[in-house]
Amino acid sequence: MAKTIQAIRGMNDILPDQSPAWQAVERVLRDVVASYGYSEIRMPMVESTHLFKRSIGEATDIVEKEMYTFEDRNGDSLTLRPEGTASCVRAGNQHGLLYNQIQRLWYMGPMFRYERPQKGRYRQFHQFGVEVFGLADAAIDAEVIMLSARLWQQFGISDQVQLQLNSLASNEARHAYRDALKAYLSDYREQLDEDSQRRLQSNPLRILDSKDANTQAILANAPQLSDYWDDESAAHFDELCQRLQAAGIDYVINQRLVRGLDYYNRTVFEWVTDALGAQGTVCAGGRYDGLVEQLGGRATPAFGFALGLERLVLLLQEQQKVQPRRSVDAYLMLLGDEAELRGADVAEKLRDALPGLRLTTHIGGGNLKKQMKKADKSGAEVALIVGSDELANEQLSIKPLRTEAPQEQLDWATAVERLQPLTRG
Ligand code: ATP
Ligand code: MG
Repeated sequence: MAKTIQAIRGMNDILPDQSPAWQAVERVLRDVVASYGYSEIRMPMVESTHLFKRSIGEATDIVEKEMYTFEDRNGDSLTLRPEGTASCVRAGNQHGLLYNQIQRLWYMGPMFRYERPQKGRYRQFHQFGVEVFGLADAAIDAEVIMLSARLWQQFGISDQVQLQLNSLASNEARHAYRDALKAYLSDYREQLDEDSQRRLQSNPLRILDSKDANTQAILANAPQLSDYWDDESAAHFDELCQRLQAAGIDYVINQRLVRGLDYYNRTVFEWVTDALGAQGTVCAGGRYDGLVEQLGGRATPAFGFALGLERLVLLLQEQQKVQPRRSVDAYLMLLGDEAELRGADVAEKLRDALPGLRLTTHIGGGNLKKQMKKADKSGAEVALIVGSDELANEQLSIKPLRTEAPQEQLDWATAVERLQPLTRG
């Protein structure tokens, strides 16, 4: 026998028993963004490599070691998208959607990063993202964060996630802080973990993210970013905090929150949970006023976030917030040659009369016992039985499979009425 072929490590199949949970989650996400008037944008999964290098930044984890980059047959360097924001800005610039306009957009789809696969961290994963263009006011930062808070509320997990906030202030303020942090940490160079030593040159702010206990101890006395905030950024942040308070959204200010990507300025935020172990960030985002221009467009303020769907689904499953949902409502059993011949016809008539009914037709013949077994295994709520008697009298038998209620032979109209409630299931 030939050796079976396996999926790529870290790239998962979502199997039929899992897909109903995913569909339920996706439905809530779509409904919530729709309730804020956001429009969907769909971007390609492959872009030219320099889009990501130019936007995410050369000295970031993603660009340094996580991208799936390859040459196509033309010798062009292409990359499977590791995130959505860069592509969204590229598309917005290319199609003239951004300059002097307000756009409230969302997207959903697979992203690719070459990481060490573990719980909540995969090589192909899915993000749901929101991006707003053309609004610099802190009111939009608040709107987008409120939208994200509504998601947790809809999923019933508000008590499982905590909002962390920070401001990276202006580029000038951040650069001044970066120099101060670098000067401070340079005195402790030898005591920093290996990654942080390397980052001291390339991306000192990322050292604030270090999980190393020694490095964290050294950081305890490091200069604080807020001491370097410019007045406008401080006022912007203050306004955001007030708006969140007014909306009743709790947050904590985390001075070490800097985010791994280069393009952020001013507000950054994360929704974190401790229910998922090390992969605790479910949703992350912030303001990126410089990116549109950096990618060749006219300067346009922007704000957005991305949410990791695998982490959300894991969290919901752990909190038992997603019920396994049946995918078949009714199983049509066909007894005898004539019923088998006319079975497809009966099924189509049922679908005409009951839009929304999820109906499986038995194929392959067999006696009542065999077909009943299949009906039960399908997960259906009821078996529908058609034999010669039903055909002769234009009737349908309904046998409930999940309750003790008796089987009934009904005329067509009554049967349709009886099945109606199932179409909402
Ligand atoms: P982390 O610190 O966990 O690596 P990140 O800062 O790299 O996260 P972002 O680029 O901000 O993550 O992506 C936004 C969200 O996408 C994350 O908060 C997370 O929920 C999800 N995410 C990121 N990388 C992965 C991955 N490899 N597998 C699954 N989900 C991911
Ligand atoms: Mg990462």
